[in-house]
Amino acid sequence: MSFEISSNTAQQPRKLGSFAGVDIPNYDFITNCMHCGLCLPTCPTYALTGLERSSPRGRIRLIKSIADGGLEMTQTFIDEMNFCLDCQACETACPAGVKYGALVEAARAQIFQKRVLPVKERFLKWVLLKNILSSKWKLKTTAALLRVYQRWGIEALISKFGILKIFSSKLNDLQSLAPRIDVHYSEEIIPEILAPKGEAKYRAGFLSGCLMNVAFAGINKDTVDVLLHNGCEVITPREQECCGSLQAHSGDFETARRLARHNVDVFSQYELGAIVMNSAGCGAFMKEYGHYLKDDPEYSEKARILSSKIKDVSEFLANIEFKIPTEKFNKRVAYHDACHLAHAQKITAEPRKLLGMIPGIDLVELPEANWCCGSAGIYNVVHYDDSMKLLDRKMENVRTTGAEIIVANNPGCLGQMQYGAKKFGIDVEIIHFATLLKRAYRLGN
Ligand code: SF4
Ligand code: SF4
Repeated sequence: MSFEISSNTAQQPRKLGSFAGVDIPNYDFITNCMHCGLCLPTCPTYALTGLERSSPRGRIRLIKSIADGGLEMTQTFIDEMNFCLDCQACETACPAGVKYGALVEAARAQIFQKRVLPVKERFLKWVLLKNILSSKWKLKTTAALLRVYQRWGIEALISKFGILKIFSSKLNDLQSLAPRIDVHYSEEIIPEILAPKGEAKYRAGFLSGCLMNVAFAGINKDTVDVLLHNGCEVITPREQECCGSLQAHSGDFETARRLARHNVDVFSQYELGAIVMNSAGCGAFMKEYGHYLKDDPEYSEKARILSSKIKDVSEFLANIEFKIPTEKFNKRVAYHDACHLAHAQKITAEPRKLLGMIPGIDLVELPEANWCCGSAGIYNVVHYDDSMKLLDRKMENVRTTGAEIIVANNPGCLGQMQYGAKKFGIDVEIIHFATLLKRAYRLGN
């Protein structure tokens, strides 16, 4: 994929209709759309409303109207840009190669710069994305408080007496969706430098992430253990910060670029053959650091080099001498494609190929495996009702597989589908790809 977003270079305009300043949608991308409509059947938001303006083609037309000066930034425009999941299923379907993801994110950057979002949403994004997630120590402090709330019986008491429901039933649902904060963060259980048993064949950096660090430490540990088992020396730099993907997807490119520069500096200190990701959204975004920083003379080259090293864990393992598990793993398993792995990074074959190599596994295809589950960053928080409709559809498909385990390579999808399994009473485990591999290797804890 390519995220050629216009910015202030000599060749790019500083004004295009009502778009102005930095990160203006690229007009060539807009005019690449030939209005064929082949993307429409793949678009989850179009499926929800049946309205042209909620489809990729409709949104591109809205962006064009503003770029041509025929439309101002109306509330409908803002709503439709934010209603989009940024799942990029439309890019996969598009025969003209329209860079839809780049267009919608640039449109969101314009909305962000103009500060026209509703105050509640702006406040939520300011607190969550610009502050908490963008700073490791702030996130760890917030997580520590949340851990007390979740693990010291306060949450249980509040649920028992239905206190949140008094304020809003949605608040109660959102609480159930919130990730459980780990007792030990991944940086406490994963040393900065780890060598495999025997000679190291590869040297990889590892992104332990922001939320992954505090709420998915077990998955990080599983990923590192699988890499070590495959002969890899693993370096997890302590100074790394959030990758910036959630900030960029919500239009805050300034914060996203600040985080990108920081991570470029941190990972560039080491000689690494690859930098391994276990979160599809982070991987997709870090592969685009080179594009986001292309106009920064100090960082453009360093960012390009770093981006070329970013690999999803399945992509990395499929391209090295993968150790095939030797013991039988007699489970029925289905694989869910995270949008930012399947559509943004075009990685669909590698995880299936590796899973299929596990002896004894009964690997079945999940219907609509690459249809968004509704998690989509913080979409399930800001568009809870729509997100739940998408989850209903996903869980119906999960049910038809009869799978004992659903595997995905993205923490957001895991949390969303775990919530779905509970909500619909489906007896299925939802786990990360690396966790399944670790079990297949019988590596224990
Ligand atoms: S990114 Fe997803 S939700 Fe948005 S227009 Fe494309 S297919 Fe539809
Ligand atoms: S985005 Fe692509 S698939 Fe969709 S209408 Fe335009 S050209 Fe056709």
